[in-house]
Amino acid sequence: MTAAPILEVTNIEVIYKKTIQVLRGLSLAVPKGEIVALLGSNGAGKSTTLKAVSNLLSLENGAVSAGSIRFAGTDVSTLRPHELVRSGLFHVMEGRRIFEDLTVDENLVAATYARTGSAAARFDLVYEYFPNLHTRRGVRAGYLSGGEQQMLAIGRALVAEPQLILLDEPSLGLSPKLVEEIFTIIARINAEQRVSMLLVEQNAAIAFAVANYGYIMESGRIVIDGPVERLTRDQDVREFYLGLG
Ligand code: ATP
Repeated sequence: MTAAPILEVTNIEVIYKKTIQVLRGLSLAVPKGEIVALLGSNGAGKSTTLKAVSNLLSLENGAVSAGSIRFAGTDVSTLRPHELVRSGLFHVMEGRRIFEDLTVDENLVAATYARTGSAAARFDLVYEYFPNLHTRRGVRAGYLSGGEQQMLAIGRALVAEPQLILLDEPSLGLSPKLVEEIFTIIARINAEQRVSMLLVEQNAAIAFAVANYGYIMESGRIVIDGPVERLTRDQDVREFYLGLG
């Protein structure tokens, strides 16, 4: 890895309901400006890792019981989720958490709570990346297709002008064509806006198409990590995660 990390997670343990240990000494880093993929099977603890970083575990009776999380060089474990958004970290949750009863435009306006300056230019930027959202700007988000909802969820993150986006399974439930379209835009946003990303995916092939570095987790721990070029040559990774022989 080259650039300094924007996110450093060191040896964290996470426990739900005081008894169920889900993360067991997990460490990872996201270098500034890069896309890092976090892969692993169902239930490995990927979403839990993102929730630990954005301080959302308490909503589910969970907690980080050991280890440290540093964002932009600062310990952020005591910041509330909205304070984290203000400091530049935006979590796009699994299942496209958008306001279904609000229009596309209104959903973007609702994401401006984290901003101090004008948001108009950010709306233009969102619509530049996602022109079909622009044509649907007056439509209630609940009536959008799955792909458009995912675009809106990412658009909301862009409004906040983050330094780091946590992206939880953006490919979930989308057709291969849409997945490709959305990942092309994710790669453009990373390159053009210099936003770092921690990308959780079940679809390893598409994650590796955009990521610089990958971590693979099983049962709450990282079991393999490395630059994507190396991982795609690793026989076990090819067989078990990429479905290639
Ligand atoms: P998926 O792709 O299925 O979301 P994941 O790798 O993101 O998988 P997590 O959602 O982080 O996995 O879940 C990891 C483990 O933690 C699972 O065994 C799950 O049952 C457990 N878990 C998740 N949320 C809670 C919760 N609120 N209370 C108790 N256990 C939980």
